[in-house]
Amino acid sequence: MFLVDSHCHLGDLSFGGKELALKDVLASAAQAGVTHMLCVCTDLPSFPGMYGKIEDLGNVFASVGVHPLNIDTEWDEGLFREYAARKKIVAVGEIGLDYHYEEHSRRQQQEIFARQLELALELDLPLIIHSREAPEDTWAVLEECDPARRLRGVFHCYADGIDHARKVLDRGFHISVSGIVTFGRAENIRELAAFLPLDRLLVETDSPYLAPVPFRGKPNQPAYVEKVARAVAAVRNTTFEEICDATSANFQSLFRVTLA
Ligand SMILES: [Zn+2]
Repeated sequence: MFLVDSHCHLGDLSFGGKELALKDVLASAAQAGVTHMLCVCTDLPSFPGMYGKIEDLGNVFASVGVHPLNIDTEWDEGLFREYAARKKIVAVGEIGLDYHYEEHSRRQQQEIFARQLELALELDLPLIIHSREAPEDTWAVLEECDPARRLRGVFHCYADGIDHARKVLDRGFHISVSGIVTFGRAENIRELAAFLPLDRLLVETDSPYLAPVPFRGKPNQPAYVEKVARAVAAVRNTTFEEICDATSANFQSLFRVTLA
């Protein structure tokens, strides 16, 4: 049986003044039955450090992309292409729009998002989308850049409600559930986790952020995706094994990899 953390950050394992060691994080993941993970890039300057850490790990995949809150770091299309050609790269991400903080220009976020969508189309790579408090604009940029709807991908840590989720699913995208599903007040995320079609569901940690119950406030790590998968199984009234099997199969088809 496989269990995949579809979205984690292993480049920088510091959180709340603590720093975890990568070897401990990998050992804990193995112990928890987490067989594979996707290490997600958030900007180009940190890519070499991140990639260097995971390059030789057989069970870790990676992405390349500029997070909407990191658009002030240098944008270099040549570098993006060079990084995207590395052997571990299975996706473009995380990219998108984040309107939670006002200091980042919305217009500029949309431009960088659009350029990366065009690159994903050209390079034929699936997307990891970060959309926070920006469902309409994320959708508009996606439709404008990809009118033929060729792009596939996942809306990670999704929180825009079931009505919008229907549109996302109709467009062929997957939706990923994070540790928020375990939070006391996150009834909306539990409803979403119960609603999602089994063949479009992924689970993630977004570690080192968003540690699930009972680890809230502590550094998150891929091992804890087991808690996420169990919480999703509970709200769907199914078994942990079924969630592991379905999310692993979905991960393989979306990112075109073979888990071994
Ligand atoms: Zn992330």
